[in-house]
Amino acid sequence: MDLFDQAAAVYEASFPMETWFERALFFSWYCSIRDCTFCFMSAQPKNIEPKTMRRSTESLLAEAILCRVLGWDSGFLSGGINAFTPADMKQLLPTLTAAYGNKFWLNVGPLPRNLLESYRPYLSGVVGALETVNPLLHKKICPSKPMEPYLRMFDEAHALGLQNAMTFIVGVGETKEDLPLLLEIIQRYHISKIHIYSLIPEKGTIYTEKDIPEPLYQAWWIAQVRVHCPTISIQCGIWKDRIAALPILLKAGANSFSKFPATRLFGTARAHDVEQQVACAGRSFRGTLTKLPVINWEDEVQRLPVTDAIKQRVHQKLHQYLGRMQRNVTCGSNLLPVKTGRVPAV
Ligand code: SF4
Repeated sequence: MDLFDQAAAVYEASFPMETWFERALFFSWYCSIRDCTFCFMSAQPKNIEPKTMRRSTESLLAEAILCRVLGWDSGFLSGGINAFTPADMKQLLPTLTAAYGNKFWLNVGPLPRNLLESYRPYLSGVVGALETVNPLLHKKICPSKPMEPYLRMFDEAHALGLQNAMTFIVGVGETKEDLPLLLEIIQRYHISKIHIYSLIPEKGTIYTEKDIPEPLYQAWWIAQVRVHCPTISIQCGIWKDRIAALPILLKAGANSFSKFPATRLFGTARAHDVEQQVACAGRSFRGTLTKLPVINWEDEVQRLPVTDAIKQRVHQKLHQYLGRMQRNVTCGSNLLPVKTGRVPAV
């Protein structure tokens, strides 16, 4: 049996033949570090005012409602490092959890025990954005984001009964020889979920001209993790230009996928393509990227534990999203130009 057949067999023995889309919810586009070499934030001006990069609460709440109703899991709740103070986070988490109807994975940099304890009622677990595991490479690509605080957070989180997840980006300079290190970290730090992305060559970074990794290479990492860690949850990143890679990545053993601009491209030909690729991989798709359910959206807003003024703003924001999505579905707007979103890794 070759690696990919073996990974597919392990997946089938461990999970139902389904998949789902995971939407990362971002509350800010600011990060106090801004020097991870692959991250678009490293190309941002240095004098940014953090508060100007925050997303509005109504926009976040509207998106959380969409995630719940459309069957999108929240891959994680995130923003750049130090974008929110602990007080901001304590205010946001209860409301956002109510809108989403579930707990979140939190990806906001390494957190000390006292904050983990205070956020715990709203969390499934924490995500450590390690990005890569080779210590020398890590120092090079994340010069101000050492691994050790994340590893300490994993220990603290596990002791508090939270789950641990990590990110891993292929194409930033790692080699296949780094696999034992990755597996060691997964075992040692009780990693129950891993996000395996492939490099997005962001403009203004040192990777601007770099080719994106071959899908088979990303699939190799997924398959190795699946074979060695049969029950771990693996999320793969696809992006809108790598939809064709989805069957290979799912067959290699990924559970779910992310990094598809789901609200902007909802109901378009690309969204239909995603659902078709899922079918090609022999998986059923939980949730939808193409069909808006007929429900009373106003009820969803009225249920939120927020003031009437905020409800009014959420209503407006939600209907902005829904209006665009409905136009995509009914007017063939899949030919409209696509503005790409940008996703920091934290
Ligand atoms: S990868 Fe994360 S920590 Fe590094 S600059 Fe980007 S957002 Fe900040």
